[in-house]
Formats: sequence, structure tokens, C-alpha cells
Amino acid sequence: MAAFLPVPALAPRVHPMLSLRRARVAPARPAVMTLRVCRKCKQQYDTETNTPASCRTHSAHYRGRLNRIEPTETSGLEYFWHCCGETDRDAPGCALSLHASYDDA
Ligand SMILES: [Zn+2]
Ligand SMILES: [Zn+2]
Repeated sequence: MAAFLPVPALAPRVHPMLSLRRARVAPARPAVMTLRVCRKCKQQYDTETNTPASCRTHSAHYRGRLNRIEPTETSGLEYFWHCCGETDRDAPGCALSLHASYDDA
């Protein structure tokens, strides 16, 4: 008569730590820092993707102007970009150009 033996709990096998290999493989293309700050629009840009339409700035200033509505009366100061008439200070620039970094001549 076989003795009743409790089935031993199967202890989960803990795999030994795989040898720590370098998980990161060197990229095929060396990472080159191409980010520059444009001196015109103050935005950071990638020189690799800089095109003649990348940089948007306004060619004139954002200034206020008083509009005369009556000979003796003017409206409040109205601010707008004098180059394109855009009244929103954050309006995208009307002049497109290449970004230019501070390093460029
Ligand atoms: Zn403008
Ligand atoms: Zn720019």
C-alpha cells in the first residue's frame, strides 16, 4: 500500500538573472546635435529640416494705434502687426524664411 504523499507544491523556478547585456544597440546613424535656436523667431529648430518656409516672423512691429472715429474722439489703442494687419499678437508670422542660428554669419 502506497503511502499517501502530499504533492509538493511546485515552487516556481526562478530563472537566474540573464547576464546583463547592453540593451541599447548603437544607432546605425550617429546622433548629431542639429538643434539650434533661431535668432529671428527664438524657436528651437533642427538644421536638418530647415527650409525657406520654416521660420515665420513678422517684418514689422506689433504696435498700438489710435483710430479716429470722430474729429474729437478716438477709439482705444488698437494693437496689430503693422506688416500684415494681424491683430492677434500670437498670430503666425507673415514672412517666411530660413531659420538662422546665432552661429550663422
Ligand atoms: Zn506680419
Ligand atoms: Zn526662425
